[in-house]
Amino acid sequence: MIPLEEAQSHVLRNVSQLPSGGLALSSACSHVTAQAVTSKELVPPFDNTAVDGYAVIAFNTLDASDSDEVQLEVIGSIAAGVDPDFELEDGQCAKIMTGAPMPKGADAVVMVEWTSTNDVGDAVRISKSVKEGDHIRRSGEDLQVGDQVVGAGTFLTPAHIGLLAGIGVYQVNVVQRPVVGVFSTGDELVEGNKPLKPGQIRDSNRFSLLALLERDGFQTVDLGLIPDDKEAIESTVLEGVEKCDALLTTGGVSMGDYDYVKVVLDEIGDMRWMQIAIKPAKPFAFGVVQSVPVFGLPGNPVSSMVSYLLLAKPALQKMMGLDSVLPSYFLGEAGEDFHRRVDGKTHFVRSFLERSKDKNLIHPVGKQGSHQLSGMAEADTLAVIHDGEGISKGSSIEYFRY
Ligand code: AMP
Ligand code: MG
Repeated sequence: MIPLEEAQSHVLRNVSQLPSGGLALSSACSHVTAQAVTSKELVPPFDNTAVDGYAVIAFNTLDASDSDEVQLEVIGSIAAGVDPDFELEDGQCAKIMTGAPMPKGADAVVMVEWTSTNDVGDAVRISKSVKEGDHIRRSGEDLQVGDQVVGAGTFLTPAHIGLLAGIGVYQVNVVQRPVVGVFSTGDELVEGNKPLKPGQIRDSNRFSLLALLERDGFQTVDLGLIPDDKEAIESTVLEGVEKCDALLTTGGVSMGDYDYVKVVLDEIGDMRWMQIAIKPAKPFAFGVVQSVPVFGLPGNPVSSMVSYLLLAKPALQKMMGLDSVLPSYFLGEAGEDFHRRVDGKTHFVRSFLERSKDKNLIHPVGKQGSHQLSGMAEADTLAVIHDGEGISKGSSIEYFRY
């Protein structure tokens, strides 16, 4: 068995970042930028009001209070999108709506809640004093000309997309996201809701893996369910490497008589088969076929997901342009005893996180078998239990959330 870190660095060494190119902003979310973007504009572009109310000269409101209101002359009303063409003089104010530009002469805004007008609307009584600058959003407060809006290597989130639209950038240079093909292997597997024949089970891995890939921002190609047949596996791999930037397979990488995935990868690619010192997800094959990485994940449903999280996902993230790709472990407190025996492996125990006052308590779920997907579904966290006798309740525990 080899340490997980060795398997991870082998995989990461053998994949590289995909080419980059321009992409419409509307499609760019969840891509990684290949180039920094700097702002050529001020955001906001002009001083404007943060509230609905009255643009005033702060000095005029100095004595305003509930018992002693100040009356000002209203000389105009400014809607958002309008450029006011007047200037306030002593004793004057203007009605103003959120986002509208400040008129000349005004230096603060009184919220409408602190005002009352006469019937005609040409005078307003103010019951609260404001200071210079109150409720004004200054031009350039969000972005200055020359500010970096996103750096190179940034994973674009919806906020970045809005920020870029806000400065009129509708095309961004991003790294291509890998197109990932997925197929399951196994003579016992079927798809569909016909009653199962003796010995059959339904394929679940292809569905959970496609869902993981979609969730993590990769494009997917479903390459189907393939029998334990060397020729069928070989032709699916060859078809897959034509269409895809990476392939995930499940099953057929253990020590069984019909485990053909590693046999095929060995024959048509540069393959390394590994027994990794982890539980679940010990067997793993990684091959490069016509420069396309192929991740041979184990067949047990929980193992295939854990193997994806620890080995395939980091590599795919490197391909999509991210720098720091390995899962980050956090420290929490064991909410229960995590029993285990010495076996030379690191155990990833399906768990859930409970936020309790200032602590993150980690609890194992009941079903820990690598075939028990319901345990995985109940969990949101993997507790990392290094080789040894386990961790007792109340001790510090490493975990990562997936
Ligand atoms: P294998 O790695 O092919 O030896 O499979 C290990 C175990 O996982 C066996 O019990 C298989 O039946 C099961 N298995 C393999 N592939 C799948 C799949 N796609 N969906 C559900 N179970 C699977
Ligand atoms: Mg099999």
